[in-house]
Amino acid sequence: MSPEEKLHELATRIADRHLDRMGALEREKREVEAQLAQIQSYLDAAKLANDHLADYKARVGEKYRCPRCAIDRGNKVALNPILSGDKIGNRFRCKECQLEIELRS
Ligand SMILES: [Zn+2]
Repeated sequence: MSPEEKLHELATRIADRHLDRMGALEREKREVEAQLAQIQSYLDAAKLANDHLADYKARVGEKYRCPRCAIDRGNKVALNPILSGDKIGNRFRCKECQLEIELRS
């Protein structure tokens, strides 16, 4: 094998190692991009939390409002009373995020 052939064979093996890693690196890149998108959504929610808190009203008319939906997404969602037997108890649930909370007046 000539020096040129030997060097070319080594170059081919080095290139093959890079190509072999490409699939794993592409997968890793997609995972990191998904994590970045998740972090960005948390940052966006965090930036809006104070504005949502300023807009939040715990009660409108006879209905309490879900604090989680209000702060996380700026949504105005009523908390519905959970029936205890056939009467209304002190527990409430949000139909959107499923938050359950006990409220005593
Ligand atoms: Zn909710």
